[in-house]
Amino acid sequence: MLGILAFDLLNYAVHRLMHSVELLWRVHEIHHSDRDFDVSTSARFHPIEVLITQAAKLLAVRLLAPSPLCVLVALLLSSAQNLFAHANGSLPPQFETWLRLFVITPDAHRLHHSSELSAQNKNFGQLFPWWDRLLGTWGSVNEETELETGVRGIPDGETLKLGYMLLRPFQRRS
Ligand SMILES: [Zn+2]
Ligand SMILES: [Zn+2]
Repeated sequence: MLGILAFDLLNYAVHRLMHSVELLWRVHEIHHSDRDFDVSTSARFHPIEVLITQAAKLLAVRLLAPSPLCVLVALLLSSAQNLFAHANGSLPPQFETWLRLFVITPDAHRLHHSSELSAQNKNFGQLFPWWDRLLGTWGSVNEETELETGVRGIPDGETLKLGYMLLRPFQRRS
């Protein structure tokens, strides 16, 4: 369990860095660019982000030396949670309120995908909501709120073009 907590804290830290370091945001914004928040969003990552996150995990394995079973369980939970958190549906409100005490729910992660910068800087957690709650980045979710998701400033239609999205991190910006 400690190893799973450590992996989740690492995911939180790397994700938070992606939002605070301009060069990292350039690759992470590809994940946020989806205007239709749904399970396909869970596969929308720039290859450079995948390399960075996998390198961080390998480094954690090298430094912490968790058991192979712990690594397997942590990676399986992480993959399953990636699909679940991007579901374009809401759970029954009372169940959702209870579940989000233990797990990042689709409503909680949808807030992170808001086009509003203040909401994007909330709910960085992947599996557990506890790091956000402990470190002051938890954002309350109101299932009544209609959220606009995506990244402002990306021209309409370009988010569906593979070449544009792969090259966007390298574009000159004013
Ligand atoms: Zn993010
Ligand atoms: Zn996401």
